[in-house]
Amino acid sequence: MANYQHILVAVDFSKESEAVMAKAMELQKLYNARLTLVHVVEYTGAMYTGEIPLPEDLDLDQRLAKQAETKLQALIDQHSLANAGFQVEIGTPKREIVRVAAEQKAELIVLGSHGRHGLQLLLGSTANGVLHQAACDVLAVRVENA
Ligand code: AMP
Repeated sequence: MANYQHILVAVDFSKESEAVMAKAMELQKLYNARLTLVHVVEYTGAMYTGEIPLPEDLDLDQRLAKQAETKLQALIDQHSLANAGFQVEIGTPKREIVRVAAEQKAELIVLGSHGRHGLQLLLGSTANGVLHQAACDVLAVRVENA
């Protein structure tokens, strides 16, 4: 029988993330676990090597990260979550989610089976990548008509 003490939930702020959060909160309660909400800012401007000059907005990723922090804190407040925190990273979602889970020694990652990257795949690219790379358990929450 699993005994999850630390659960990580991947929040992309899509419509599906409400159901993903609901499942993570249910499990947090069941196991009396700590919950960490993770969002990954996918801005890749810093990696751009094209010919066309980009606008001088090099701190865009930092500003997006700040916005994400505010939104995650709002989610924690909205659900009056105790024993919960958040972490925002910049990079590739699947890679960062797996990395943070390992770093934080989470025993379970909860994420949506799909999110902003569409319905056409059985498992979205993030869910698929996390499932294959994570060292801990992974729960992909299936949401109908998300
Ligand atoms: P997708 O790969 O877009 O189908 O997303 C599947 C699931 O991965 C979503 O429901 C989220 O739980 C998680 N996810 C996707 N992108 C992010 C992101 N940028 N930050 C945090 N979680 C994400």
